[in-house]
Amino acid sequence: MKYIDTHAHLNLSNFSDDALTVAKKCADEEVVVINVGTNAYTSTQAVALTEETDNCYAIIGLHPTQAIPGARDGDDVSSTGTAEVFDTDFYQSLADNKKVVGVGECGFDYYQTSEGYTPKDSYARQEQAFIAQIAFANERNLPLMIHTRGPKPGKESPTGRSVYQDVYEVLKQYAKVPFNIHFYAGTCEEAARFFELGGTISFTGVITFAKEYEVVVKNVPLERLHAETDCPFVAPIPFRGKRCEPWMVQEVYKKIALIKGVPEEVVREQLLTNARAQYSLSL
Ligand SMILES: [Zn+2]
Repeated sequence: MKYIDTHAHLNLSNFSDDALTVAKKCADEEVVVINVGTNAYTSTQAVALTEETDNCYAIIGLHPTQAIPGARDGDDVSSTGTAEVFDTDFYQSLADNKKVVGVGECGFDYYQTSEGYTPKDSYARQEQAFIAQIAFANERNLPLMIHTRGPKPGKESPTGRSVYQDVYEVLKQYAKVPFNIHFYAGTCEEAARFFELGGTISFTGVITFAKEYEVVVKNVPLERLHAETDCPFVAPIPFRGKRCEPWMVQEVYKKIALIKGVPEEVVREQLLTNARAQYSLSL
């Protein structure tokens, strides 16, 4: 295998008709896929895919928006609108599978809001789910996959701090395992603080078309980076407008190489090394 998509969602209903076909296409292109759970149902789907394929791994957990009643995660059509509390026994039954390589995605999402829940109520529920998942990961020595999303433009965060600051404080206080900040959109300074805690960050296909990520991609050490698609969302150039699929992660690798001015082969080798280490993969 030559590439790895470290954060994909073949487990969402966007792929309910053809997840196995897409996983096979990824295998043909030598792409390993880590499917990330967002709730009990999608975590179960992610684990099922590990049993039906050779190139899929799973991360299991509860997305912060799935901890708030009625707050759907934008395009996540698998979202039921019913809130979950993180159920340790249930997730333990999934974690017994050898191809479960992490916990999440968990963290804070200030973007999605729900009627009847103040931002502070939502924050409290998300914080509870986040801390429960960190404890679960600590106990099993599994790395964490972290979701961060700030408020809508012009809106206040529930804490008055940036989502990166809030996630940092919780991780610093509780996490004893490595973590990755997925879909990173923070600053170089914020990234440096996560690296001090032993964290990594990952970028999606957004870096192929949005210039604002270039400074961070250029300046962070390659050893601290992962590539991902977050499919079915945000297809990279030249696939904009199509459903994003994990094999498209190759475009993210290419763009990282271009921005850093490093040969593609060096990026490919290093990102595989990073993922192997983070998720204890024997690729
Ligand atoms: Zn995701």
